[in-house]
Amino acid sequence: MRFAIPAGRARIIAGAVAGVLFLGWLSGLGPARANETRVPAAASGPPPAARRPAVRRQRPAPSRPPVDCRKVKCVALTFDDGPGPYTARLLRMLAARHAKATFFLIGGNIHGREAVVRQELAEGHAIGDHTWSHPDLDNLSEKQVRAQLTRTLTAITRVTGRPVTLMRPPYGATDRHVAKVARRLGLAQVIWNVDTDDWLDRNSAIVAHRAITRAHRGDIILMHDIHPTTVRAVPKILRGLAKRGFTFVTVPELLAAHPIKPGRAYFHGG
Ligand SMILES: [Zn+2]
Repeated sequence: MRFAIPAGRARIIAGAVAGVLFLGWLSGLGPARANETRVPAAASGPPPAARRPAVRRQRPAPSRPPVDCRKVKCVALTFDDGPGPYTARLLRMLAARHAKATFFLIGGNIHGREAVVRQELAEGHAIGDHTWSHPDLDNLSEKQVRAQLTRTLTAITRVTGRPVTLMRPPYGATDRHVAKVARRLGLAQVIWNVDTDDWLDRNSAIVAHRAITRAHRGDIILMHDIHPTTVRAVPKILRGLAKRGFTFVTVPELLAAHPIKPGRAYFHGG
């Protein structure tokens, strides 16, 4: 005898699961709002059990000594628009040098690449929301902005079991409406102050040269892990910046000395 769930019942169950996920996600916003001076735990440690939706258990992030960017020359490498076909390779490159980075994910790219998203967090990197389909947010209504961000937040939380506290508006395009929605969703806006223009010049040597020569202490560097030329540039970037004395940290680590406020835009860790 086969056990089949009637379609109507399946919809009710799916609705209940979505409701639980949504409530779990909402509860994740609480601490960041209640105490804005606390750094959101985007990349450190698992959340309390009550906040974790019923998804696959995470491996704990590998331990490493805490980095104090007030004492160490820190830089945050950020990779947008993934996950993509080259992301797993990039993770191996970062792991080889114990470098941490931050990934701003397109929600529409997550399906089929859930494992690499989980791997990003498991290896100590941070993850942020880069909308569902990469629109210019300052051309959208607040309702549309909210939908773009919420859909991706929900997808990330469903896959990782972790709340999301960072977002990056596509093209860095933000305004007071985007800021308001981000604040209400508990998301800090992470922009950048060093642009490698890697999407324009698909040339590893040029991308590496820009990243290495333009970086200063506390900078947030923009790259895209959907371009193979960028991923191929990463070993050289890591070598070159390490030679200049940099430590590679996540955005939450970079901003740890500052209060990270939902809605506020951050360009730099200084
Ligand atoms: Zn982007």
